[in-house]
Amino acid sequence: MPTGKSAVPKFAKVTAPTDGQPIKIVGNKRVVPDNPIIPVIEGDGTGRDIMKASRRVIDAAVQKAFGGQKRIVWFDVYAGENALRFYDDILPADTIKAIKTYVVALKGPLTTPIGGGFRSLNVSMRQILNLYACVRPVKYYSGVPAPVKRPEAMDIVIFRENTEDVYAGIEWAKGTKEAKAVIKFLTSKMKVKIRSDSGIGIKPMSVTGTQRLVRKAIQYAIDHNRPTITLVHKGNIMKYTEGAFRDWGYALAKKEFGKETITETEVTEKFGGQTPAGKILIRDRIADSMFQQVLLRPDDYDVVVTPNLNGDYLSDACAAQIGGLGMAPGANIGDHIALFEATHGTAPKYADKDMINPGSVILSAVMMLEYLGWPQAGQLIEKAIEKTIAEKIVTYDLARQMEGAQKVGTAAYADRIIFNL
Ligand code: NAP
Repeated sequence: MPTGKSAVPKFAKVTAPTDGQPIKIVGNKRVVPDNPIIPVIEGDGTGRDIMKASRRVIDAAVQKAFGGQKRIVWFDVYAGENALRFYDDILPADTIKAIKTYVVALKGPLTTPIGGGFRSLNVSMRQILNLYACVRPVKYYSGVPAPVKRPEAMDIVIFRENTEDVYAGIEWAKGTKEAKAVIKFLTSKMKVKIRSDSGIGIKPMSVTGTQRLVRKAIQYAIDHNRPTITLVHKGNIMKYTEGAFRDWGYALAKKEFGKETITETEVTEKFGGQTPAGKILIRDRIADSMFQQVLLRPDDYDVVVTPNLNGDYLSDACAAQIGGLGMAPGANIGDHIALFEATHGTAPKYADKDMINPGSVILSAVMMLEYLGWPQAGQLIEKAIEKTIAEKIVTYDLARQMEGAQKVGTAAYADRIIFNL
């Protein structure tokens, strides 16, 4: 448990470091000091292995990139089973307050203890902190064993809606009085047929939830010179949720980014199928077709925007194409608050064995460094990871798929990345 002499603000059971500064939001901009305080949740299971290793890599990269002029001041906060060592709660108010106060945080994987009163700790954090965009870049790092012929053709960033859809957690088990009441209402008032032995789930999708996500994705495409944005939906079947997602997405693009974007229909009808220079092409694809597209024509896609459930499936399917979960970073981002995290779970069978691949957290930290406005440090890490993989010095998960690889533990892998920085 960390201690410190004085701290503002105050927390119940942790003490914020005194040698760093908070990131501030001024107007609509993040102002990042040279020594930002970043809360870090180590997490459960293999979180203990990967977070220690990752912090060393991040610190070394920041040191190398900025020669000591900048440094991250880590602030350990707790969630999951790990939090029960100090709190009665798996998601303590201290942790939420720290993330809200310091804006940017890094997180390891978390266990949601069964019967703890939480559907999912991760989903709860996203909802409490209003982290409405799950951002998952999926690109190939040379040398990583992958199941497709041209893994390097994939370089997409998925923006998945994080708070709505069937993931909103509005559901009732078969036979409960709530399920019966909803079925009664729907059959008697709405005149639809539902079997009486049904469980019920509700799929809310709003203009607000959709458009703030699409806005973020379009801004990302503009900032990163990405030529296309694809809205993925199942609107041919679910017209007023998924279909509306598509329509609200196009409407937002037209209203707020009319100068920067152009629709596929306009390009076809007015420009002979050639996107005019300087414009970002916005189009939509039906979800099932999109799963084929990312396998058959991955190079056609850049920024992909999806509702919650489709995005969950698509993110993991795309990650598999470039070598799996160990290489897949992610972040949950709201208007400013951002939680960068390992996209895999706690992999408990490997906990404390110094085996697991820390790549997902380290690459999430690369995203975090870019978010801080320190991309140089992130680029150093990416190059060092590529070099380490090219040397075939890798953790077990990659070693078992590579010929002639030298299998190393989590800590030694991090050491080699640091050596290669
Ligand atoms: P998991 O922890 O992601 O692990 C499943 C398998 O994926 C592992 O056995 C391992 O496969 C592979 N794997 C995962 N991370 C890896 C890494 N860093 N390097 C190499 N291989 C890796 O999924 P799970 O076993 O279904 O879930 C375990 C717990 O994690 C559950 O309590 C779940 O609720 C929680 N969870 C948390 C998060 C989160 O915090 N964001 C996300 C998902 C799940 P091999 O055995 O084949 O090597």
